[in-house]
Amino acid sequence: MMEEQGLDCLTLSQDLPLSQDDSFRELWGRVVNASISGIPPTTDMSHEAWRGENMDMLLIPDQVLDEQFDENLFELPPPEMLPKDCVTPPSSTVPVTTDYPGEYGFQLRFQKSGTAKSVTSTFSELLNKLYCQLAKTTPVEVLVAKEPPRGAVLRATAVYKKTEHVADVVRRCPHHQNEDPADHRSHLIRVEGSQRALYFEDQHTKRQSVTVPYEPPQLGSEMTTILLSFMCNSSCMGGMNRRPILTILTLETPEGLVLGRRCFEVRVCACPGRDRKTEEENSTKTQNGTKQPKKRKSTPAAPEIMKKSKSASSAEEEEKEVFVLHVKGRERYEMLKRINDGLELLDRESKVKNKKPEVALPSSGKRLMQRGERSDSD
Ligand SMILES: [Zn+2]
Repeated sequence: MMEEQGLDCLTLSQDLPLSQDDSFRELWGRVVNASISGIPPTTDMSHEAWRGENMDMLLIPDQVLDEQFDENLFELPPPEMLPKDCVTPPSSTVPVTTDYPGEYGFQLRFQKSGTAKSVTSTFSELLNKLYCQLAKTTPVEVLVAKEPPRGAVLRATAVYKKTEHVADVVRRCPHHQNEDPADHRSHLIRVEGSQRALYFEDQHTKRQSVTVPYEPPQLGSEMTTILLSFMCNSSCMGGMNRRPILTILTLETPEGLVLGRRCFEVRVCACPGRDRKTEEENSTKTQNGTKQPKKRKSTPAAPEIMKKSKSASSAEEEEKEVFVLHVKGRERYEMLKRINDGLELLDRESKVKNKKPEVALPSSGKRLMQRGERSDSD
């Protein structure tokens, strides 16, 4: 093992060209290549090149992550921090996913289909999430407070929900594309029942979308209905591959100016009713805080390293101060916690020796106060 490496280095240095500049560059290249070659390739690697070219914005959170965990990373920026409505939404590198009713009061409504086993499409208001079966039609009701300008269109775009996937373009999996003769076979979202649906692929970002002209509601109706269908399962290998997606519906002028925007999550699965029920139940449980042990694991450890809150003398005043330490990684957290626990124990033992307290120390480290005893902090 060691011999091999030594040999490698030897040939490396012998192979170096004479120019010092070039030799360093080549050496560096080899060192980098060598260290990378040991890492098993992941599916994400194939997207790295594309990411690097077009997704400068995404590099920022990655770098932040390297330094320390930013708790606000997954929170959407407040509306005023977002770029003012992009004139041409498909060409913005990362699509905006905040709701924006705009001056036309753009809203969506879904039919109440419940969670019966047989439903092919059902919407969860609780989770703002649509559950539907592959290629089954979901009616989406579009409401506006006032008539949009002539020639307005509705555009549907799919985007990956998680930060780490948002750079990837949502497309159908190779299997489903291959068995479909349609021109727009690579598009995940389809608008059914309209001859005027148009399929777009942005030439820069390669993001796909479908538009349909906005039609005012028919007489006696308050909304327009469009029919969407999703042409892959969320689990499709080589496609969504279990990565959650959002669908962005925008109301736009014929020139592409966004007048309103609504987003919702979509899961395409075999049992929409069952999955909606399960996920709603899990969400309610989590919100009520009945059981959250798993959630604690997934969130970064933010241990509070507490000093004893009561100290005997004012000289120890400084030690009362509590510091919060943010630690990256569970393993490291457990290690630091053990060190702190040890220090706490030492503290307690030395106090026991010095003070000979009247009462046994409770496990929490706080000293119980006896009746009539003055609190140390008084
Ligand atoms: Zn598929």
